[in-house]
Amino acid sequence: MIEHNGVVLVLSGPSGAGKSSLINKISDEIGDYYFSLSTTTRPMRKGEAEGVDYHFVSKEEFVKDIEADNFLEYATVHGNYYGTSLHPVRQALSEGKLVIFDIDVQGNMAVKNRLGDITTSIFITPPTLSELKRRLEKRSTDSKEIIEGRIQVARREIQRTSEYDFIVINDDLDVAAKVLKQIALTARLKIPHIKINEFVQRWEDIEE
Ligand code: ADP
Repeated sequence: MIEHNGVVLVLSGPSGAGKSSLINKISDEIGDYYFSLSTTTRPMRKGEAEGVDYHFVSKEEFVKDIEADNFLEYATVHGNYYGTSLHPVRQALSEGKLVIFDIDVQGNMAVKNRLGDITTSIFITPPTLSELKRRLEKRSTDSKEIIEGRIQVARREIQRTSEYDFIVINDDLDVAAKVLKQIALTARLKIPHIKINEFVQRWEDIEE
């Protein structure tokens, strides 16, 4: 037997593609998962909670982890650090969870470099650019300028779809959710190289 450890599912795609809607729809049907949260040194705001909005850490802790190469990526914004720490990811993996990342194409590359053999990546998109625009306008969470910016980013990112294992076209939400669920369940069957090698060694069990 090969016991299954945790695996990674990367979700990318334009803002407005429907990533949150899809995850919400299938969240009860894909087993135990950990949705990767950013780590930050900015003070917690009223109404926020550790492990819900961010992982909140001190500046010292953050810098120590940068030096120990424990960040997939990080940046400073207004004097505070923000990044994706590998600590909570490793913790969730050791508990056998499906670790879900909602990240851009650059983040996908960073995950691939560090955790490639246990990662399944999906690019989610509406069927067309005009449909993306329509949904962003209908969502009404962003100004005209922000929507224009998101459209420009989307045009760039769609060019890199071939870097992903799967593309899910979110036309009908229920259909896309079914496809996403299938991929998430299959992603769980990925086995890290080290485990495969151990299995191969055990497999040759004939004494000669
Ligand atoms: P993301 O998390 O990728 O930014 P959202 O989940 O916020 O995207 O979806 C963007 C908007 O599009 C939301 O208003 C959502 O209700 C709508 N939406 C998502 N999927 C569909 C779909 N298949 N058909 C029509 N509207 C959709």
